[in-house]
Amino acid sequence: MTFTKTILITGVSSGFGRALAQEALAAGHRVIGTVRNREAQQAFEALDTSRAFGRLLDVTDVARIDGVVAETEATVGPVDILVNNAGYGHEGIMEESSLEEMRRQFDVNVFGAVAMIKAVLPGMRQRRRGHIINITSMGSFITMPGISYYCGSKFALEGISETLSKELAPFNIHVTAVAPGSFRTDWAGRSMVRSARSIADYDALFDPIRQARQEKSGKQPGDPVKAARAILAITQSETPPTHLLLGSDALSLVREKLAALGKEIEQWEKITRSTDG
Ligand code: NAP
Repeated sequence: MTFTKTILITGVSSGFGRALAQEALAAGHRVIGTVRNREAQQAFEALDTSRAFGRLLDVTDVARIDGVVAETEATVGPVDILVNNAGYGHEGIMEESSLEEMRRQFDVNVFGAVAMIKAVLPGMRQRRRGHIINITSMGSFITMPGISYYCGSKFALEGISETLSKELAPFNIHVTAVAPGSFRTDWAGRSMVRSARSIADYDALFDPIRQARQEKSGKQPGDPVKAARAILAITQSETPPTHLLLGSDALSLVREKLAALGKEIEQWEKITRSTDG
């Protein structure tokens, strides 16, 4: 049975956030959606005149987050589900990418998400219920050259999610890290931040990767609407997963990674064990 819930989603202007908001509204839920400009706010609120509540928020503006959450909880109602969706991909060879670019990547993808969680937790703990969904990535498990900051941020959020799920289990608050593969959103298009190339030594390795990602943008195998339906399905479960992969590309790549990791652990087991005692 589906119960009407209040869902707070960060970043509802496009991609997963927009698709999830639309599917949630169609299922009868109330959706508070964060956006970064008035046009996006109007477009979001036009999706449903009575149950779509747009709020202006850049998740790096952490000093405002508690206030925005408090105001929406007072006017719309207590948040049953928080979806930390806002995020972007930084693409660049690490040696070529500035520390400022790394900080920005972590400010949005990690610190922003954690600040949102901190804002909803006191209420969820008091009510002894809630679900926190963090959109991570298959890049929380697998890596490839040219996205070290992105993978670092998503590994971080995956680890924080898993830890948090153990801290919040006694309060009946679920935490799920949803790790999509490649989906047709604006991620590799308008939203991606690409560092300029400066070291020719990396040309052979990285140029084909950058080019392939640009060519694939908009043609990825994953459908964000189907992702939205999958996410809504886990919100209906009494026992939602701690980690959920979305897409057959994520499934095979993460399986390969885990198998390779298992193999490497076995190969070096003797040295690993040698440090006891
Ligand atoms: P998208 O279409 O580019 O959507 C990203 C959303 O995040 C937009 O609404 C954007 O708002 C918002 N956002 C970005 N920076 C923000 C900030 N500082 N404060 C508030 N909102 C911000 O891409 P998407 O694929 O749907 O991305 C959603 C999440 O999925 C991200 O966390 C991404 O890393 C993750 N993901 C995507 C894929 C994929 O293949 N698409 C795969 C794995 C994980 P503006 O419109 O204002 O920029």
